[in-house]
Amino acid sequence: MGGTKDVLKHDFQKTVVELADAHCHLDLMTATQIGDAINASVKTLITNGVDIKSDMESVKLADGKNVFVMLGLDPEHAVKLKEDELELAVGLIRGSIGPGVVGIGEIGLDGREGNMPLQKKVFGRMLDLALELDLPVSIHSRGALDEVLQMLEDKAVKKAHIHFFEGSVEQAKRAERLGCMISVPPLESGRRRKVIKEVSIDNIMAESDAPVAVKSPRDVTIAVGMIAEEKRITFEQAAQAIVANTKRYFGIEAGKPKLTLMRN
Ligand SMILES: [Zn+2]
Repeated sequence: MGGTKDVLKHDFQKTVVELADAHCHLDLMTATQIGDAINASVKTLITNGVDIKSDMESVKLADGKNVFVMLGLDPEHAVKLKEDELELAVGLIRGSIGPGVVGIGEIGLDGREGNMPLQKKVFGRMLDLALELDLPVSIHSRGALDEVLQMLEDKAVKKAHIHFFEGSVEQAKRAERLGCMISVPPLESGRRRKVIKEVSIDNIMAESDAPVAVKSPRDVTIAVGMIAEEKRITFEQAAQAIVANTKRYFGIEAGKPKLTLMRN
């Protein structure tokens, strides 16, 4: 067992261990940038659509090997939806479910976006769709984590991933009790480290949120490094746990991509 010292000595950029990025936006990146991340050991990437256009772009990126896709409507775009666009999006998402599409995301609530009733309507509709299709979700919760957790509880959603977790230890414990996974973004913070320490490693994933939070999914190493340090395990052990958790949560079997089928 390596302690903090071993982790700090580890050269994150030269790492050869396999990594997984539980949340990114590859439709905003070039094929070269995506290839670089895969070559740099990020072998499993979960990319998220944020609106109808990006959902349709994202579907094209699903390769069933390294790139897996979530389709959704995020709060920033939810507040701009016109009357008939919600059901149009639901129909398009439903019709796009196929190999390499592993869930519904990015969806959620954002305390800074305003029009909370519309945000809740869209988020609720997306949660219903995920429940109906029995698919996991990837959730944005900036400034609205309590509201998000309440909706998950009310709708009895069992497979939820709170991406870019920024809550307190107390909120993390509540998320854990609801059966949620949380993911650690590649940005340092003492509050985040406390949460990592208190949450079971089985419920933790790592993400880059690239290219929004950082430039490349390669930077997921920063999140894995923090997890290793707070859990007092080696970087390799943390990476292994994170890859296993990510594949388990999104239903990706090693070497055998899941074929997601429509339910009647
Ligand atoms: Zn995102």
